[in-house]
Amino acid sequence: MAALKQAAGPRTLALMLTNPNTLGIFEARVHEIADIVHAAGGLLYYDGANFNAILGRTNPGAMGFDIVHFNLHKTFTTPHGGGGPGVGPVGVKKILEPFLPVPRITFDGTRYGLDYAQPKSIGKVRAWYGNFALILRAYAYILSQGSDGLAWVTDRAVLNANYLAKRLRAQLDLPYPGLRKHEFVLSGGKLKDRGLRTMDLAKRLMDHGFHPPTVYFPPLIEEALMVEPTETESKETLDAFADTVAAILKEDPEIVRTAPHNTTAKRVDEVLAAREPILSWRMWRKKKGV
Ligand SMILES: *Cc1c(COP(=O)(O)O)cnc(C)c1O
Repeated sequence: MAALKQAAGPRTLALMLTNPNTLGIFEARVHEIADIVHAAGGLLYYDGANFNAILGRTNPGAMGFDIVHFNLHKTFTTPHGGGGPGVGPVGVKKILEPFLPVPRITFDGTRYGLDYAQPKSIGKVRAWYGNFALILRAYAYILSQGSDGLAWVTDRAVLNANYLAKRLRAQLDLPYPGLRKHEFVLSGGKLKDRGLRTMDLAKRLMDHGFHPPTVYFPPLIEEALMVEPTETESKETLDAFADTVAAILKEDPEIVRTAPHNTTAKRVDEVLAAREPILSWRMWRKKKGV
C-alpha cells in the first residue's frame, strides 16, 4: 500500500487489478487502493479474469472499480484457447458513458436504432460487432443460470478450490496463508529433493488421465502449479486428482522425469515452437526440404 501511494501521482492514468488475484487471494483493502488511485485522478480498471470467484456475491463497482472487462471464455463458457474466437465486453461507470464508442444502440419502445450523436465518444472501434455469436452464447448461459445459479457457481468454485488446496498442501507447499477464492498456486520447490520439477509432475499427470494445471505462472511462486478446479468438478474427481498427485510423488522419479509415456506426442520443445512456429504443412515441408 505504501508503494502504491508513492507511485500514484499526477501522471497516474489508471491501475488495472485482478481481485481476487492470481493466487486466489482476495484483496480486502481494495477500497483503500481505489481511494489512492482516485485521489491521484486515476481510474481503477477491473481485469475480469477471476470473475468465477465473485459472481452473485459482489461486483467490481462495489469494490470501487470504474471499468471492467468480462473474460467470457473464462467465466461464461465461451471457447478458450487455441486462438479461439475471443470477445471481452467492457462495462463502465456512468461517468465514463459519454466516452464509449459509437454507434450506440437505441430503443424507443418499438424500433431499434443507431445513435452517432455522441460528441465525447472515442469514436468507432474497428471490431464494433465483436464476436457477436459468442456474446449471445454467454448471455444465454447467464440467463440459464439465473442470479441464484451464478452465485452457486461461485460458492461451489470457492469450496472446490479450498477443499483441493487443503488436500494437496499435504504433498506440495501452499505459499501465503489463509483461505483462497476460486484458485490457488502451489509450489513444487521441494520436488527438487527428488530431482524433479513441476513440469515433470504435470507431464506425468497426463499419463494418469488428467489435464495438467497451469505451470510456472505466476513467476513469483517457485516452481508454480496453479490449480483452478471450477464449480463443475465433483468431489470424486477432486479426490482422484489429489490421490493421483500423491501417488505420482511416490513413483520412481525416473518414470516421472521422463513422462509422458502414454501420449502420442512426448515432450515438445516449447521454446522452439514459440520461436520458430510451423503453422502449416507447407511450412513444415519447406523446413524439412521434402
Ligand atoms: C487469463 C488472464 C489474463 C488473460 O486474459 P485473456 O482474456 O485470456 O487473454 C490476464 N490476466 C489474468 C490475471 C488472467 O488470469
